Amino acid sequence: MNKLNGNCECKKVSFEINQEIKYFSHCHCSQCRRSHGSAFASFIEVEKSFFKYNSGVENIKTYASSKDCERVFCEICGSNIMFFNKNKSEKYYISVGALNGDISLPQAHHVYVGSKASWYEIDDNLKQHVTLPKSYKNE
Ligand SMILES: [Zn+2]
Ligand SMILES: [Zn+2]
Repeated sequence: MNKLNGNCECKKVSFEINQEIKYFSHCHCSQCRRSHGSAFASFIEVEKSFFKYNSGVENIKTYASSKDCERVFCEICGSNIMFFNKNKSEKYYISVGALNGDISLPQAHHVYVGSKASWYEIDDNLKQHVTLPKSYKNE
C-alpha cells in the first residue's frame, strides 16, 4: 500500500492518504474548470477513514458548489484540497495537483466531457464519459 502526502500551495494545510487508489478522473465540468482555473480538474477517490489532515484544519474553508457538493480549499492560498458529495459522505475526492512526489495512480478517465471547454481538445486515449461513469453513479 502506498502512502500519499499532499499540501496546499502555502503549506498550511497538509494531509496524508493511506490507501490504494482505484478511481482517478479528470473532470471537465464548468465548476471544476472555474474553481481550479484550468481546462479540467483531476481527482482521486479515497475512503474518508484513510484520509488524515496533518496540519491546517483551522485554515480550511468549504464552498457549496451545488446542493450536494462541498468544495474544500485553503483560506490563505486558495488551493483546492478536495470536494465531497453529501450523499456519499464516506468518500473524499482529493485534488491530485495537491499531492507530492512521484505517485503511481490507476488509469484515469475523463468525466463531464459534455461540459468540456471549447478551447481544449482531449488528445489522449483515455475513456471519456459525457457525465459520470455508470459504476460511479450506482455506488
Ligand atoms: Zn494554503
Ligand atoms: Zn467537476
